[in-house]
Amino acid sequence: MTRARLVVKGIVQGVGFRPFVYRIATANKLVGFVRNLGDAGVEVIVEGPDASVSRFMVQLQAERPPTSAIHQIDTTFQPETGEFKEFRIVKSNESRVHIGSVIPPDIAICENCLRELRDRRDRRFEYFFITCTDCGPRYTIIDALPYDRPRTTMKDFDMCERCSAEYVNPNDRRFHAQTVACSDCGPSVALLTNNGKRVDSSDPIREAGRLLEGGHIVAIKGNGGFHLASSTLLTEPIVRLRRTKFRLQKPLAIMARDLEAARSFAEVDPNEARLLTSYARPIVLLRKRSGFHLSEQISPGLHNIGVMLPYTGLHSMLFDETKEQAFVMTSANPPEEPIIKDNKDAFDRLRDVVDYFLVHNRLISQRCDDSVVRSFDGTTTLIRRSRGYAPAPVSAAVPRDACTLGVGGQLNVTSCLVHDGRAYMTQHVGDVETLQTFEFQKEATHHLLMLTGCRPEAVGRDLHPLFSTTRFADELGKEEGIRVIPVQHHYAHVAGLMAEHDLNEIVGICCDGYGYGEDGAAWGGEIIFATRTGQKRIGHLEPQPMIGGDLATRYPLRMVAGILRDDPRLQDWLLERQTHFPHGRKEVDTILTQLRSGKVPLTTSCGRVLDSVSAIIGLCYERTYEGEPAMKVESCAVGGKDILNLKPTLKGNVVGMSSMVREIFTNVGRYPLRDLAYSAQSYIARSLGECAVAAAADLGVKSIGFTGGVAYNEQITCTLRATVEKEGLRFLASEAVPPGDGGVSFGQAVMAAMIS
Ligand SMILES: [Zn+2]
Ligand SMILES: [Zn+2]
Repeated sequence: MTRARLVVKGIVQGVGFRPFVYRIATANKLVGFVRNLGDAGVEVIVEGPDASVSRFMVQLQAERPPTSAIHQIDTTFQPETGEFKEFRIVKSNESRVHIGSVIPPDIAICENCLRELRDRRDRRFEYFFITCTDCGPRYTIIDALPYDRPRTTMKDFDMCERCSAEYVNPNDRRFHAQTVACSDCGPSVALLTNNGKRVDSSDPIREAGRLLEGGHIVAIKGNGGFHLASSTLLTEPIVRLRRTKFRLQKPLAIMARDLEAARSFAEVDPNEARLLTSYARPIVLLRKRSGFHLSEQISPGLHNIGVMLPYTGLHSMLFDETKEQAFVMTSANPPEEPIIKDNKDAFDRLRDVVDYFLVHNRLISQRCDDSVVRSFDGTTTLIRRSRGYAPAPVSAAVPRDACTLGVGGQLNVTSCLVHDGRAYMTQHVGDVETLQTFEFQKEATHHLLMLTGCRPEAVGRDLHPLFSTTRFADELGKEEGIRVIPVQHHYAHVAGLMAEHDLNEIVGICCDGYGYGEDGAAWGGEIIFATRTGQKRIGHLEPQPMIGGDLATRYPLRMVAGILRDDPRLQDWLLERQTHFPHGRKEVDTILTQLRSGKVPLTTSCGRVLDSVSAIIGLCYERTYEGEPAMKVESCAVGGKDILNLKPTLKGNVVGMSSMVREIFTNVGRYPLRDLAYSAQSYIARSLGECAVAAAADLGVKSIGFTGGVAYNEQITCTLRATVEKEGLRFLASEAVPPGDGGVSFGQAVMAAMIS
């Protein structure tokens, strides 16, 4: 006979872990107890015959619940005491034993709950917030640890007798499910007009669905915040929604009734189907089908559309009495502010925007936007890592004893904590350009530190002196007395890629819109040699004038003017397009004068080159959302061919771009636009690839990586991969972490861990 004490670290609270331990302990006829610890870990004590204890320990690892993760088990053996008569789940112990355990992300409604939702005989028939130990919100409802109902936003709902009976019954699938509720005791839903009057309906959710179909805009409260919803067939409400959201062109996410519905307007390959139905239930960017029948206003000028499937009973029920296959379902966030999560705030901010509100009365502890992913070339790329993923950790190859933080850059910010070889990233915070997002980042970061119980010894931040995140890191440094480590933006991207793939050295290609360079210039098309001890810029795109600085980002014609400054055709060409400049002819004249003065800041940004191509072929003259001109080039290139097949122009470590832009300019009108867009992207990928391959050969490095926001571009990534692999080298891309700026905090934390 023996007694074993196991302390399990990982994602083991809120995923049905204690009921699972109970089942395998009792199946092995062991006595003892299991309980949650105050650090999100779980403690187990079992007593019984040696063989049974051993079998129990094997099953603990092998048969764990699907949404759990075991990172570490500390086991101690002692002689049996005989103090137990049975195996029990006991009250949580609030003490912390480990640091680094973490509660799970939100989990989409499971098959069993969905079946019960639709079963007339089930007592949760049509209960919109049906959940069990395997599914439901987690991260968004947890205020503090250990994960027990009194420390979640479910504390406002006392369980009824029948729910309590399920909660304490070890044979019930809601045994110790903290979100257990029913229509008698759980959160309730209400439909309100935009002046706060309750709509008299016995069926508010389906009524909301009917209103959407009828052309109304409805604000819908979900698990992690409010969505703005509308029809996907009618253009009027979408246009109205765009106007009020100040999003003239930005693609809007939609929610499809089910997989089959998604296939009616989009192409879905097996990996995309897997992502759509995964328990994270992200928004997946899908190619529009030929004969796409939804409103073009959903993602104007793009070949793809962001689609997700229902992830709560409420979402599923919205479609019950409508013919529409999908609804627009976009985050309700005022410009530059985080997603709205409180009912009062929603009314204050949205009553002029929407016609109705579909709200429930459960508070949201942590706001959390939907995640966005894309699949191509057989791999999944995270664009926004948030609901369904955060705060579950990813592995990071850094010294195990390091504990560091990264706070991101300026756009698509997250914070990231690295501890014990794992990286815990916050949900998507957004562009930290207003006080609201700045406050949100602070709160989300401190919440993450509280959940993990970590105290970082250093914090990595951007080199840019004026970013809010820089200020945040400096404040943390002062308050906590920890080191602040400035990390160049693109170095952070490449360091993250290395740590994700556990590499010792790499030639990294990092392409995006903007990052503050080591020399203070605007970088964004960089080739970097990185090892575990440091990074060096070994190549870059040809620097181009950025006339008017940030204005050149907003108005791509300014980039064209800079790149083609010596072209005799430029002046007439710009004048023909003067209506696309806010100040018309006067502005064109100023631009030409500035160019002649020679006093113009330069940029090596790859994003800006794509922007110029976008303007030359007439796709985008004003950028209304991040990445718009480049995304439109990508969409335009679909189905195109490399008609120009331009030869890369490498001058030492500088990758020429002007010649390509001039060729595109010259050939407009001679070839279909899609072939020109394709040729431009092909050139960018092949020339970057050749430069990196040459550098890798010089350095004797076997791996080439690609990261930065341009890595979301399918054609560029696939062409680059082919160029690299043709040379027998290994090609690496970011998979567990976004290659765009949402992953910068990860790279900063990694760099801080390597340096400190
Ligand atoms: Zn369930
Ligand atoms: Zn109940």
